Order: sequence, then C-alpha cells, then structure tokens
Amino acid sequence: MSEDLAQVTWQKCLQIIKDNINYQKFKSWFEPIKPVKLENNILTIQVPSQFWYEWLEEHYYNMLRSTIAKVIGPEGKLQYSVVLEKSDDSYEQNRSVRLPQRPVPPQREYSIPTYPDYNPGQIQNPFVIPGLQKRRVDSNLNSNYVFERFIEGDCNRLARSAAIAIAENPGKNSFNPLFIYGGVGLGKTHLTQSIGNKIKQDFGDEKSILYLSSETFTNDFVHAIRNNRASEFSMFYRTIDVLIVDDIQFISGKEKTQEEFFHIFNTLHQDGKQIILSSDRAPKDIPDIEERLISRFNWGLTTDLQMPDYETRYAILEHKAADNGIEFDHEIFEFIAHNFKSSIRDLEGAIIKLLATSSLQNIDVIDLPMAKRVLKDMIKENKAHINIDTIQNHVCDYFGIDTNKVREKTRKQEIVEARQIAMYLSKKMTKSSLKSIGLQFGGRDHSTVIHAITTVEERLKDSSKHQRIIKDIQHKIELASL
Ligand code: ADP
Ligand code: MG
Repeated sequence: MSEDLAQVTWQKCLQIIKDNINYQKFKSWFEPIKPVKLENNILTIQVPSQFWYEWLEEHYYNMLRSTIAKVIGPEGKLQYSVVLEKSDDSYEQNRSVRLPQRPVPPQREYSIPTYPDYNPGQIQNPFVIPGLQKRRVDSNLNSNYVFERFIEGDCNRLARSAAIAIAENPGKNSFNPLFIYGGVGLGKTHLTQSIGNKIKQDFGDEKSILYLSSETFTNDFVHAIRNNRASEFSMFYRTIDVLIVDDIQFISGKEKTQEEFFHIFNTLHQDGKQIILSSDRAPKDIPDIEERLISRFNWGLTTDLQMPDYETRYAILEHKAADNGIEFDHEIFEFIAHNFKSSIRDLEGAIIKLLATSSLQNIDVIDLPMAKRVLKDMIKENKAHINIDTIQNHVCDYFGIDTNKVREKTRKQEIVEARQIAMYLSKKMTKSSLKSIGLQFGGRDHSTVIHAITTVEERLKDSSKHQRIIKDIQHKIELASL
C-alpha cells in the first residue's frame, strides 16, 4: 500500500522534474531511482550509491525540495536510502554514460532538510558476536580503484611507492600509519583503496580489510553508543588487519569519536596491523583534533598528493579515454590538459561531458571546436581561484568583525548573520561540498550549512538591503580573485 502510494507520488514528482532539467540528466540521475515507501509525508527513495545521494543533494536540492512541496505538500520530506552494491557493475550496465565510480558505504538513510535522528539502517558489517572469532568482513572496496589505473607522476611518486610497499607487506613496514593528504579530486580515495584491493587480491581471506570514511566511522560509533553496543563496536574494529579511513579530517571537533579512534589506533598499531589514513590537509592543519592523535598520525609516513603536471595530466586523459573505449584526437587531450589544472576529477569530468554531449546530440566525431564549445563553461569555473578562506575574509571585512569569529561557535547575532552569508557565498562561489563548507566553519555539519543557505535565500527574497549587501560582497570577492 505504502509502496503503491510511493510509486504514484514519485511518478508525479518525475513529471515535474522532467520539465525542469534536460533529458539526458533526467535519464542519468532520476530514472534509476526507485520509490520505496510513503509514510507520514516522508517519501523514501532508493538511490544507487552514496555518490548519487551527494550529487542529487549538491545539484538538485532546491528543485527536489520544491517538487516534494508541490506533490506532497509543505510538510513533505524526502528520505534517501542508499543501495548496497554487491557487484561493482550492477547499475553501470544500463547507463549510457559512465560516471566516475565512487566507493559505496554501508546502507544508510539520509533525509533533507535536516538530520533529526541519525538512522543508519542496516549495517553492513554487523559487529562481532562475542564468543565468535573473526568473521568475514565486507571490505567496502571499489574494485575499479587499483594501482594499474593509478597513473604515476612526480605529483604522487612517493605516496604511490609507499602504497605499493604497504600492499606487499601490510603492517610490517615503516609506513604505519600511511597518512596521505591533498586537495579534492587528487586521488586519495583511489590510492588508498588500491592498497586494499591489492592486499585482497594477494592475501585473500587471510587479511580482513576495511575501508570506510571517517564519517561512517563516526556515525556507526554514535549508533553503537545509542544501542549500548559500544564495546562490540570497539571489538569489531580490533579484529581488522588493514584499516583504511578516508577523509579523517571529518573527525574534527568530535571528541568522543576521536577518543575511540585513538584507542583503536593504538591497539591495531601495537598488534602490527596496518592503518591507512587520508585527509584533505596535513595532520597539523586539521582543526579541533587532539594533539595525541596528530602525533600518532605522524608516526609512519605522511605524504601529500599534488596536482599532476601537464605530461601526467595528458597520460591520465589517455588512460581514461581508453578505459571508456574511446579515442580522441591528441589535440583534444592537449586542450583539456592545458585547461584543467585543479583536480583529476575535473579531467575526468571533461571527458564525461564530451561523451555525454556527443551521445545526446548524436555527434559521431568529437573534434577540437566541439570540445572547446562544450567545455567552455567548465574551464571558466576551473579558472576561478576563489576559496572559502577568501570569502570568510571578505565577509568579515565588510561587517568589521574578526575573521576567526565566523569559524568559531559563537552565537552572537551579528556573527551568526555574517557566518550565514559567508556559508551562502561559499556554496555559490566555490565548488566545495556542503560537508567541507561546514568543516571550515568550525566543524559544523551539513544541515547547518543548508539552514544558513535557506535563511539567506529567504532574506534575499524580500529585502533589497540584503540583496545589495550580498551583491557588494560578491563583487569585491570577484574583483580580488581576478
Ligand atoms: P580524492 O579522494 O583525493 O578526492 P579520488 O581518489 O576520488 O580523489 O580521485 C578522483 C578521480 O580521479 C577518481 O576517479 C580517480 O580514479 C581519478 N584519479 C586520481 N588520481 C589518479 C591517477 N594518478 N591516475 C588516474 N586516475 C586518477
Ligand atoms: Mg576521496
């Protein structure tokens, strides 16, 4: 009954969505979604991966919100349920454009616009049952992330060779932990998962490997505490031979999680188990994190990933195209390699965009003029060097307050307002995710950022004073970044 209702409701939503976005995007992002249930005005939809959920939230949040309000009413809410992918190819087969593969975490549910009560749904790695020895752990690895697909360059040579050394001899090397840091889309997830995949391939069931993001770790920990299963949680992690925690910076500000992680880290390290961590910044630059953890992060090898130079970018493009079974003229690779200099994900994005456009417009030959035309906007975005720091500085300058204040937790009205505007502009003017914006504003979570953005949007609707303020600040930021 609730499923039928969900079906009908989702169909109505799809009608509206279809009118609002282009067909290819509709087909790629909305057709594969399955309605699950409609209860208490909450429509639950199932999306194929965590990446999918993030993408929808990043790109279609407003449209989804207004569609749900139209179809269900103002009380309507949308809840996501992320499918657990057993085989890596399950959804790729019926898609016309190959999207970058992302790791898929255990099934959990998300709701917008807030996270009232965290509900992780089914946990993929049920904690160890006392009395039983080690049980098979699902490693959460994406089999596409392998060394063979990780192109070597000066930008990643040290990190890559340390990663290979670890994969050959997990736990028994001097790189424990391996701490890899670098900006978005530079290969941290790919490289750390390659280690896991190689160990899995060479050691089979002999080693239990677990890959997860520090957010999943935090959420599972919170869930375990709520259910009085904290000790099972600790026990479970202590049975892992190779623990890979991606984006460890997100434990910033989470004291209890840090403490738990500290103890798990010590036990694993003492037992000669391998620990691999990634972060978007060096250990010392992670805010709100215990000193003793920072010191442990530096026990093994700390190394960064840089943006590849031109030749490596070219080689990566060639490989990506070959992986997708296509050939481009070398001029196109040169053009992309020259113009995309800030992340490898953007290099991939450029190829995907070319493919998507050519299939949508039935163009057989992708030539340089077409590539230039299609990628024009992406290049513009790539050129802007506006970051959250710059935005915070300008906003605070404008209001005459100390920049650190918007990064702290103070609730003074004038600071709250400046902070909300800075968050709004960060979303508008940078490519940062809601998550990373939250982190750079004193470790707030992404629902706070959404709240700030909505508040500013509401104000902009009916106050010309606010419109002027935002316009002024935005103009100043743009001028400064030319
Ligand atoms: P991060 O975790 O640092 O944000 P990812 O590991 O997700 O970055 O990498 C972004 C994309 O770029 C992925 O699709 C990945 O496969 C690709 N990539 C990153 N580094 C390389 C590399 N050295 N060679 C080939 N592909 C790469
Ligand atoms: Mg990553």
